[in-house]
Amino acid sequence: MSISQAIEKIEARYAHQPEFIQAVKEVAITIAPLYDSHPEYDTFKVFERLVEPDRVIAFRINWENDKGEVQVNRGWRVQFSNALGPYKGGIRFHPTVNQSVLKFLGFEQIFKNALTGLPMGGAKGGSDFDPKGKSDNEIRRFCYAFMRELHPYINKDTDVPAGDIGVGGREISYMFAMYKNLTREYGGVLTGKGVGFGGSLMRTEATGYGAVYFLENMLTAQNEHIAGKRVLISGAGNVSLHAAEKVHMLGGVVVTVSDSQGTLYDEKGLNQEKINWLKEQKAKSQPLADYVAVYGGEWFAGQKPWHIKGDIAIPSATQNEVNEGDAKLMVENGIKYVVEGANMPLTAEAIDHIRLHRVHYAPGKAANAGGVAVSGLEMSQNSVRQYKSFEQIDARLKCIMKNIHDSAAEASGKYHQTDKGYIDYMTGANIVGFERVADALVAYGILN
Ligand code: NDP
Repeated sequence: MSISQAIEKIEARYAHQPEFIQAVKEVAITIAPLYDSHPEYDTFKVFERLVEPDRVIAFRINWENDKGEVQVNRGWRVQFSNALGPYKGGIRFHPTVNQSVLKFLGFEQIFKNALTGLPMGGAKGGSDFDPKGKSDNEIRRFCYAFMRELHPYINKDTDVPAGDIGVGGREISYMFAMYKNLTREYGGVLTGKGVGFGGSLMRTEATGYGAVYFLENMLTAQNEHIAGKRVLISGAGNVSLHAAEKVHMLGGVVVTVSDSQGTLYDEKGLNQEKINWLKEQKAKSQPLADYVAVYGGEWFAGQKPWHIKGDIAIPSATQNEVNEGDAKLMVENGIKYVVEGANMPLTAEAIDHIRLHRVHYAPGKAANAGGVAVSGLEMSQNSVRQYKSFEQIDARLKCIMKNIHDSAAEASGKYHQTDKGYIDYMTGANIVGFERVADALVAYGILN
């Protein structure tokens, strides 16, 4: 079956899962030259196998709110592929979570994890639980209840979840506590744990810092440097604020962050004090807009950052946050580099538009792989029960991001996608990630 036939089949079967189909198509359109040069991929039905998860585990979560009322949520774990290692991928708590979203994220995660060069398969999980407005006690009860249902399906050697939107250090601690309680095991079953009890230094910073390290490599490839460049960032969560921090450290000028309520614009740029203030404000679930009264700048209620002039955009909030109209604004406003901090933040039309205008574009599976890479390092530190310093992890992260950049750039060149200095990172990253997984599937025969 050809790739296009496999896509037709997926479109018919999963017509109600648009995000998943979008993610599959994005990979499919770029890997054709590789696929055609490897007839064994077709013999072993590699593509057809990879677009079906190994399994999807669905469960109900009963928990009690502070009023003693019983609440019911849905939870899932999509174990997509363990061809290269234990299933690995985050857990998301957000009302928009459904099977389509988790399947797109799990599918992307297979190739992202492959790109890191570390032995990790791909997975994703989560719940439609909305953490917003919940008390700490409610969060704790929900996390305990979620892990009570999930624990039979995960283990440090089979499936190792981490955090994602709505799941940070606090939630991981509660879930880890419940897992230990139920299994009596102190293994590294979750990553993103507190540093005092098995977590890796730098995991919190890794995705945002890693995205900026990737950006530095892109700029170097064009004989440019980040210092003095105006950077637009969307989101004000873990990825966004750590990306902002690293851009500032390297001399770039971050002029925006945003959240679901609007965009904050600070012409003077964020410094460490302002970023710390933003981190505290978001941790307390307080409005971003309060910033203006403290530090000045402008608040654009209900707007995204892309109407503002800049050199670099790092969309780091959520999937499909940048549509074609936003992409047009980016091009008009001078954006030359788009680095995806979030997973699939650009729609297919937005990607087409910026690529058409030769904006250098780093897809999330390459640019935001730093988080899962340090999660992989957390797993190995847990296994040997020895911990590395912040500097050691930072050096590994830089090296991993450079390797991802260079291998994607090389594949882009090899498959003739490089044109007068324009590196097609989307094609390159998909080809490198896909090839590693596909070769393993062929080696396994028809199992897996
Ligand atoms: P957080 O929950 O820490 O932050 C998410 C941010 O995005 C918040 O500022 C939130 O605003 C904003 N946001 C969420 N949904 C929307 C929306 N529909 N419209 C506008 N803004 C929105 O999440 P993370 O920073 O961890 O994750 C962000 C992205 O990065 C996700 O795509 C995630 O999958 C991806 N990612 C994260 C990794 C990690 O290590 N954390 C690793 C790799 C990828 P508000 O507070 O108002 O909801």
